[in-house]
Amino acid sequence: MAGVTFNRNRVKLKKLLGIRARLAMLAVLLVAPLMFERVRSLEDIRARQIATASEEYANITHHSAETQREVISSVETMLKSAAYIRAASGIGRSCEILRASLPASLPWIRSIMLVSKEGVVQCSTLNIQVGMNISDRDYFRKARETRDFVFSDYLFGKTNNRPIMMAAYPVAAINPEEDSVVVAGINLDWLSTIMANFSGKPGISALLIDSTGVVLAAPPDQAGMIGQSLGNMPLLSAITYKALSSNSDSGSISFIVTDGTKRAISFARIPGTQSRLVVSVDEAEVTAAINRDIRTAYLQLGFVCLFVLFGALIGAEKLIIKPIELMTGMAKRFGEGDSSARVARSRLPAEFMPLARAFNAMAAQLSQRERELVATNDRLTVMASIDMLSGLANRRGFQSRLDFEWMKAQQYQCELSLLMIDVDHFKLYNDTYGHPEGDACLTRIGEALSGIAADTLGFAGRYGGEEFCLLLPNTTPQRALEIGEMVRASVQGLAVPHATSSHQTVTVSVGVAAALPSSAQTPGELIEAADAALYAAKHRGRNAVVEHGFGRLADEPGLAMAG
Ligand code: GH3
Ligand code: MG
Ligand code: MG
Repeated sequence: MAGVTFNRNRVKLKKLLGIRARLAMLAVLLVAPLMFERVRSLEDIRARQIATASEEYANITHHSAETQREVISSVETMLKSAAYIRAASGIGRSCEILRASLPASLPWIRSIMLVSKEGVVQCSTLNIQVGMNISDRDYFRKARETRDFVFSDYLFGKTNNRPIMMAAYPVAAINPEEDSVVVAGINLDWLSTIMANFSGKPGISALLIDSTGVVLAAPPDQAGMIGQSLGNMPLLSAITYKALSSNSDSGSISFIVTDGTKRAISFARIPGTQSRLVVSVDEAEVTAAINRDIRTAYLQLGFVCLFVLFGALIGAEKLIIKPIELMTGMAKRFGEGDSSARVARSRLPAEFMPLARAFNAMAAQLSQRERELVATNDRLTVMASIDMLSGLANRRGFQSRLDFEWMKAQQYQCELSLLMIDVDHFKLYNDTYGHPEGDACLTRIGEALSGIAADTLGFAGRYGGEEFCLLLPNTTPQRALEIGEMVRASVQGLAVPHATSSHQTVTVSVGVAAALPSSAQTPGELIEAADAALYAAKHRGRNAVVEHGFGRLADEPGLAMAG
């Protein structure tokens, strides 16, 4: 049972999968590997682009830390040298040497100052700073206390609002008797350059924050944030707190923002300071641009596939479906009986030629066969209804003609008469002259009857053995009786010798019956009536004509005799 269902389903599937669907499937099969390859490479590109983006910002963070390291170490060297100079010479001499020796190769060193233990700037490579008091600055106090290098947090230059950083080194670290401090102002212009690297990168934002969370530097497009405290922004403050409370110099935090986008924050402590570079990456935004490109590529791919698919279908429609439809259309016409249906080969591609040729040849052969069959059938029909001996219709032919005439008479309300004719003493004839001679006699009687039928518009037949019949459409009983007499006389007129008959010649007895056919009667009843009349004619001595009742079959039965 399951097998039957399966087979049925397969048949259904086969029906569904017409040539068009199969061709579409073929096109898809051909296009699919290309599509998969393209999709794979697009996904590859996406992954690579995302990786490149994160690598890039990691590099920038790293680079900024490296730059800072260089700055710090050069500043340390510079301050140490200045401290040695100060330790070795008086303030005036030291000042001269310092002013002369600040190298142009260290552009980030904005100025070098010699500060007294009271915090007064005694000498500076920048004149404007001379006389300033920096005793209240943390870095200054710390340097004196720790007798070691101290770097300040980032500060904003009072004059230009640009981030600067101060470094201090006590001369006491070299000569404990000297209590002045060497201080350097460090330009942080490079920070702007590094921050500029983050500018215009969708989804990436970078901020430099000091130990209290104040923004020291930001990319040019976020310059407004400089000087603001991140503590005012709840989300960023949490991140800042994490970055600042972390003991490590660098790290990263990943989290999902309430709108569902993923953000990664990474921070790196700038060496020698409490400041941190905080880089935040909105993965969704970074990937959005890439995704846009990828989406465009997918759209193009989709269009190409659709184009290929439609192309394949239209091509197939013209090249394959049309010829097949042409052929099946012809086959259908032929099947419906149009034997002139032939495939026009000029409209078919070469591959279909043999099929078309075979179809045309088959169609021609079948038409010829059919013509022959029709002719043979006609011949057989004729042969099957003709008696070869007499040349008249045989019993079968007579019967079908009787049915036809009966219907016709019934339809037109005409009379139909029938003569049943039997050769008298024919057994004796055979016995006397032999069977072949008997056949010849029957042939002659047939010819005579055929002549009378032609004259009377009747239909003559050999009913069986030596018994004949003559069907007379549209003929009254009286006229039928007359024709019966014509038959009887005509046979007698043949004067075929019959020595053993009382009449000395071959004679016939004729029974006549007539009817006005109605649906209440059958043709068989007319035959029976004519037979009864024939029987009566025999009874009356043969060579006689008797009608069944004077009038028609429907009338009171009775027999009348003619002649
Ligand atoms: P009746 O006058 O009563 O009709 O006598 P009958 O001898 O003609 O009738 P019966 O039925 O006794 O004999 C008919 C004969 O007709 C017998 C048969 O040999 C002969 N006959 C029937 N068909 C043929 C035929 O095709 N050829 C020949 N030669 N004789 C036939
Ligand atoms: Mg007979
Ligand atoms: Mg007879």
